[in-house]
Amino acid sequence: MPLLLPLVAVLLASAAPPEAVPPPRLVVLAVAESSLPSAPGRVRQLAFDADPASYFASGRNTTKADHLTLTFDNPVSLKSVTVVTGRPDGSDALGSGVLEASADGTAFEALATFADGKAAAAGKGRLVKALRVRPTEDAAHPLVVREFTIDSDPQVVTFRYPIEFTLDVTDAPEMQAWGDKVVRVCERQYPSLCDDLASTGYRPPTEIRLVMKKDYDGVAAAGGGRITGSVKYFKQRPNDIGAMVHETAHCVQNYRARGLPGWLVEGIADYERCWKYEPGTARPLNPDRAQYNGSYQVTAAFLAYVCDTYDYRAVTKLNAALRAGKYDPSIWKELTGKPVEELNQEWRRSLAK
Ligand SMILES: [Zn+2]
Repeated sequence: MPLLLPLVAVLLASAAPPEAVPPPRLVVLAVAESSLPSAPGRVRQLAFDADPASYFASGRNTTKADHLTLTFDNPVSLKSVTVVTGRPDGSDALGSGVLEASADGTAFEALATFADGKAAAAGKGRLVKALRVRPTEDAAHPLVVREFTIDSDPQVVTFRYPIEFTLDVTDAPEMQAWGDKVVRVCERQYPSLCDDLASTGYRPPTEIRLVMKKDYDGVAAAGGGRITGSVKYFKQRPNDIGAMVHETAHCVQNYRARGLPGWLVEGIADYERCWKYEPGTARPLNPDRAQYNGSYQVTAAFLAYVCDTYDYRAVTKLNAALRAGKYDPSIWKELTGKPVEELNQEWRRSLAK
């Protein structure tokens, strides 16, 4: 079959050269877990946020059955680790405990014991998937961990925007496993959300309560550091985790001003959902009917167009204006040089291509 030969030749010629292969990921993400509840405002991720002034504190006294564990997405080659416990004033330091490491996230071995509230160990390149602090005696105080300092290859990323979701499935205990998964997804998406929705002087929430309600008729809603989700809806559509990412975006937006354009508030939340969390899944729009202020996914697509075409920080700048209560339609001209009506026509023409 001689006709095939040129095709084979073309395929071989277009095979990616070795240098075009994407490099391995240079960073690893972590999850912070504990057997202990967190004290208000002292969430787990504060033990690994590169800020020794902030700290995790448990909401009850610690026992030798408790732990605080950092689990990494992938094992890293550990060079060194230091863990400092106790509050900045020196109280509640761990008197008796071990710092342990695990290669598989399950079986742990002692790396160092705590002395004066501190434990440090050289890693010598050992592969580590998880590190944990474990008291070896019951204590008459909470577990307080100021900071893990980890040097490894690749580096484990610290929590830039510490966040902790509390899940309340009292109404539907059978949704516990589903809720745990959702909470983990939203915590992972949080740094990206907070980067996109950053503004000067603004600190995003560190605690969000996710409550699943049987008598809630909508899909989900956010307000006051709380997300309410419909048991009925999410039982029917357990894969619609993006709806919770959308609500998490509302928690970060946290706008207080009145009279804001609802289409833009929802459009930004759906931009975070559809273009950042679930890229490539947005439904095609009808160019004859789409309008920039169509809200939700329609406005999200318009925002993506403006970001891609004019200013990749457009969503961040719009968010800052909304948060400051200074949104005005003239902002589109400041961002792009064109009024929003003109951008709208341009965007709709691009949809028709
Ligand atoms: Zn919404």
